[in-house]
Amino acid sequence: MKKIGFTGRRYPSTESKPSANTKCQKCLETGHWTYECKNTPTYKARPTRTQQLTKPLKPISLELPDEFKSKRELAEKALLLEKEKEREKEEEKEKEREKEKEKEKEKEKEKKAKDEPKKKKLRKDEYVY
Ligand SMILES: [Zn+2]
Repeated sequence: MKKIGFTGRRYPSTESKPSANTKCQKCLETGHWTYECKNTPTYKARPTRTQQLTKPLKPISLELPDEFKSKRELAEKALLLEKEKEREKEEEKEKEREKEKEKEKEKEKEKKAKDEPKKKKLRKDEYVY
């Protein structure tokens, strides 16, 4: 018997019989290889490189892998938090503005209160004549 060295198998794992862990890339079911698949192909939303390159401005939402998704979600959450903080700050500013307005109103009232007795006095003086 001649000794055979390298058999030329590039992917020895795919040469074995399909196990329960074998996942078909066509129908995404387990138990058979992709090239043995007799099922109809299941479409899994996943952008091809061409799609990604031709539509670079369109945001990819559902097709992103989980790692990117989580990062994206985290970033979105961070953005939301920042926006909320900004909103809170603006609300505080508005409250301060309202307080200042009220203070000014009170000042005006005080001024009026000070002015009114003078006017009354004047009126009284006027009535005298
Ligand atoms: Zn299949």
